[in-house]
Amino acid sequence: MRTNLLKEEHLMFRDAFRRFVEKEVTPFHAQWEKDGLVPRELWQKAGASGFLCMDVDEAYGGLGAKDYRYNAIISEELVRAAASGPGFAVHTDMVAPYISQFGTEEQKQRWLPGLISGETIAAIAMSEPNTGSDVAGIQTTAVRQGDQYVVNGQKTFISNGILNDLVVVAAKTDPAAAAKGVSLIVVERNMAGYERGRNLDKIGMHAQDTAELFFRDVAVPASNLIGQENMGFIYLMQRLPQERLTIAVGAIAAAEVALEWTIGYCQQRTAFGRPIGKFQNSRFKLAEMKTEIEIGRTFIDHCILLHNRGELSVEQAAMAKWWTTDLQVRVIDQCLQLHGGYGYMLEYPIAKAYIDSRAQKIYGGSNEIMKEIIGRAMGF
Ligand SMILES: Cc1cc2nc3c(=O)[nH]c(=O)nc-3n(C[C@H](O)[C@H](O)[C@H](O)COP(=O)(O)OP(=O)(O)OC[C@H]3O[C@@H](n4cnc5c(N)ncnc54)[C@H](O)[C@@H]3O)c2cc1C
Repeated sequence: MRTNLLKEEHLMFRDAFRRFVEKEVTPFHAQWEKDGLVPRELWQKAGASGFLCMDVDEAYGGLGAKDYRYNAIISEELVRAAASGPGFAVHTDMVAPYISQFGTEEQKQRWLPGLISGETIAAIAMSEPNTGSDVAGIQTTAVRQGDQYVVNGQKTFISNGILNDLVVVAAKTDPAAAAKGVSLIVVERNMAGYERGRNLDKIGMHAQDTAELFFRDVAVPASNLIGQENMGFIYLMQRLPQERLTIAVGAIAAAEVALEWTIGYCQQRTAFGRPIGKFQNSRFKLAEMKTEIEIGRTFIDHCILLHNRGELSVEQAAMAKWWTTDLQVRVIDQCLQLHGGYGYMLEYPIAKAYIDSRAQKIYGGSNEIMKEIIGRAMGF
C-alpha cells in the first residue's frame, strides 16, 4: 500500500512485522525450503506477537483490528522478504473468517483462541484430484448419521496441508444437488480416518507445505458444521473475494520488489562499456513495467479501501486477482531477462520470485475462471 493510505498505527505494525520477518523468517527460510515446510514454532511466535487473525475480537484473544490494511501489510512484507513459506494469509485471510463470520459461539470459543495464538494452524480444502475450478462438482461426501457426519473423499493441492490442525472441508451433504448440496465441515488433526498424503513436490514455494488429504469414514461431530447444511457454496462465494484480494496484494507487491531489484541490477551491471539499463531496450522495458505497476498499485489500493468499507464486489476482486497476477508473472519474467544468466541462478532473488510466482495465476480460482466471473456479471 502507498504510505499515504496508512496511519501511524499501521506504520508501527508494519515496522514490527518487518523486524519479526528479519529476525524470525529470513535467516531460516533457505533451510525451510529444503525441509518443505516452516516449523510450528514460527506460527506460535507470530501468534504471540499479534500477527495472526488480527481482525478477530478481543474476547477471543485477537486485536479486534477490523481493518484489512493490517492483513495487506502481512502479505506485502512477506513478499518483500521473498518469504513464500509461511502460510499466514491462508490461515488469517482465507480460513479463520469462516469461523469468525459463520461459526457458532461455541465454535468461536473452541477454535479462535488457538488460531490467534498459532497453536492451531488452519487450512481450507476445496480442490480434489478430479475437480478444482468446478467446486460444485466435488465428490467428497459428508453423510449425516445421528449427531455426526461421516466424511469420505480426497483433497489435493491443500496449502498448510501438512501443518494444519483444523481444515475446513467442502463436502457434499446432498450429492444430487450440485452447488446447493455443498457444506463446510471442520475436520481436526487427530480424528480417526483423516490422513495427510504427500507433501507435494512443487516447482516453487518450496517452504510452503501443499499436500494431499484423505478422509476415510471420518466421524466428525455435527457441531463441526460451519453455518447451515448445504449453504457451503454461498459461504465460499462470500469469502472468496477477500482471498482473491489477498492474492492480488501479494502480486502487486511482488512486481514492485522485482522491479526494485532489477533497477539496482541495471545500474551496476555493465555491458559494452555502459550500465545495461542505459540500452534503449532496457530503458523501455523498465519504463513499461513501472507504468503498469503504478496502474496496478492504484487499482489495488482502491480495492483495499473498498474492501474495508465492505464494498468490494465479486467482479472487482476477480479483476484484481487476474490482472495483477498476470502482471506479476510478466514483470518477473522481464526482470529475470534483464538479469541475464544470473537471473537463472537461485542465489538471485529474481530466480526464486520466478518459480514462486507461477502458481498465482492458478490458485484462488484460475485466471480463466476470474474472466468467467467478470464476463458473466456483464450479462454474457
Ligand atoms: C500452490 C497451490 C496451492 C493451492 N492451495 C489450495 C488450497 O489451499 N485449497 C484448495 O482447495 N485448493 C488449493 N489449490 C488448488 C487450486 O485452487 C486449483 O488448482 C485451481 O482452482 C484450479 O483447479 P484445477 O487444478 O483442478 O484445474 P482445472 O479446474 O482442471 O482447470 C484446468 C485448466 O482449465 C481451465 N478451466 C477450467 N474450467 C474452465 C472454464 N469454465 N472456462 C475456461 N477455462 C477453464 C483452468 O483455468 C485451467 O487452466 C492450490 C493450488 C496450488 C498450485
